[in-house]
Amino acid sequence: MSSSEDCCVVGSGPAGISCVQALLAAGKQVTILGPGLQLEPDRERARATLAASHPSHWASGSAFLKEGVSGSASGIPLKLAYGSDFPYRQVPGATSIACEGPDTRPSYAAGGLSTVWGGAVLPFRQTDMAGWPVSLKDLEPGYRAVLEWMPLAASEDALSDFFPLYTDRVPSCKDRGASLPMSRQARNLLASLDTKRAPLNASGFYFGASRLAVDATKPRSPCVRCGLCMYGCPHGLIYSSEQTLAALLATGRVRYQPGVTVRSVHETENGVLVRGVGPEGAPAEFRAERVFIGAGALNTTAILLRSLQQYDMPVKLCDSQYFLLPLLRFRGTANVVREGLHTLAQLFIEIFDAAISPYTIHLQTYTYNELFRDTVSARLGRLKRAFPMEALLGRLLLFQGYLHSAHSASISATLRRDADAGDMLQLQSVPNPETAACIAGLTGKLARLARHTGLLPLRALLQMGKPGRGFHSGGSFPMSLHPGAQETDILGRPPGFRRVHAIDSTVLPSIPATTITFTAMANAYRIGQLSALSPDPAA
Ligand SMILES: Cc1cc2nc3c(=O)[nH]c(=O)nc-3n(C[C@H](O)[C@H](O)[C@H](O)COP(=O)(O)OP(=O)(O)OC[C@H]3O[C@@H](n4cnc5c(N)ncnc54)[C@H](O)[C@@H]3O)c2cc1C
Ligand code: SF4
Repeated sequence: MSSSEDCCVVGSGPAGISCVQALLAAGKQVTILGPGLQLEPDRERARATLAASHPSHWASGSAFLKEGVSGSASGIPLKLAYGSDFPYRQVPGATSIACEGPDTRPSYAAGGLSTVWGGAVLPFRQTDMAGWPVSLKDLEPGYRAVLEWMPLAASEDALSDFFPLYTDRVPSCKDRGASLPMSRQARNLLASLDTKRAPLNASGFYFGASRLAVDATKPRSPCVRCGLCMYGCPHGLIYSSEQTLAALLATGRVRYQPGVTVRSVHETENGVLVRGVGPEGAPAEFRAERVFIGAGALNTTAILLRSLQQYDMPVKLCDSQYFLLPLLRFRGTANVVREGLHTLAQLFIEIFDAAISPYTIHLQTYTYNELFRDTVSARLGRLKRAFPMEALLGRLLLFQGYLHSAHSASISATLRRDADAGDMLQLQSVPNPETAACIAGLTGKLARLARHTGLLPLRALLQMGKPGRGFHSGGSFPMSLHPGAQETDILGRPPGFRRVHAIDSTVLPSIPATTITFTAMANAYRIGQLSALSPDPAA
């Protein structure tokens, strides 16, 4: 297999698609390579059948969505998509990943991990980008461009002072619920936080509506508040870059070669040779003027290490460590179990407190969903019959929190040569002595602020995710103004490469807490745009 194109983009996840958009806008011809796994046809048919019927008829037909996902006493399960594990499934030619401590996995799906993500999007702040060779200003055109094709359900509120919306297309501020209807628990909490805004802000506690990559304005199939978001939206309202891929293919603007797993890239005198494996496991080769690798942090790292022949040379994969903290609200909300609502993040809370961290701590607030009920039931065991479950659920909230990578454990990633099984990417946890103090500082602060927030953090129930479990990882080949070995220039090129660009979170110098994907997309757009503008492909 062989072909020659202007530009080749590896991967159709959020980073790959953002780069594709920049290249197309600059008039380039683009071929996208990727394994391209998709939801099984029978599940896609079942999803479409649900979407075509009224939600009052969904009860029996929606059971397939929940297969493989249930709340248990041990915590929150791995998210699947429409009851399928296709986002995480292996393909011929995949580099095997050995997790010795970390808990993470790559995606070989068309759309990558955005086929299963939670859609939370917030930009970075300049103060959280210490040591980066590019500034927030450099990323801003990318943030704006991404929101031309990625939907955003958000509100212009107090968080906009720190995190601009980067689009004019959100409803205006006053009607917070207009973009995506908030749950009553979230509305009540927000109203009560509003009454204490001044002392909370003085303590570095800022809050507002969540920002979600959800199409809340789709005229024919609006959000029906079915509460099924954590299983996969029957109406496809939660953005996946697979949707943009499909739209680009429908207009014939890109070429797409699914079934290809890239293994390595090699620069020649006037281009790049891409080597990979086709659907049946046969070798496949492509030639392009430039190659942009957006295979997700794990696979881009493996492709670069293999191409550079850097076996047995560990790189540091940074992680924005993820944790779950349940809280009890002093005031309950009645009937949450029967409420029609969405179950994605409802509110964002940002902690700016130099005594705990010089960087933002990001807390996504979740209100009732049925996995809460299942988890509480499992923990109570036989006691649950005598327990006032509904009253508890009306008070229970969950913070899904993220720390800056400077305070998080990291992952040591080493490509090992394995003659029998192909190469293996070995991942080992590297604890960070600052994590515990940072978390203790945060939970202590939340406990002290309880008189203002009305929220009691259940510190004994805090769960720290293993490194990689929040899927906010990257930085193994960080961008630098003067790149050394295992670094890249500001166009994502490792030393020795002029036409090969890593474009995903692999090149972010650190991982701030405020959600990784929006910035990975903005930076991929920036790299695509700048490299396309360069008159000399090798410059
Ligand atoms: C359950 C879950 C919830 C999440 N929630 C959020 C959230 O709310 N907010 C947020 O910011 N982030 C979230 N994330 C993380 C987010 O999904 C990722 O940051 C994002 O998808 C990364 O985009 P990417 O394009 O870099 O990589 P990916 O999405 O991993 O896409 C990689 C692409 O490359 C292709 N590919 C992989 N290997 C190869 C290869 N060898 N050759 C060719 N092609 C290859 C894949 O098929 C895919 O198309 C979540 C992740 C998960 C799993
Ligand atoms: S509640 Fe969630 S799953 Fe249901 S329609 Fe709205 S976004 Fe989709």
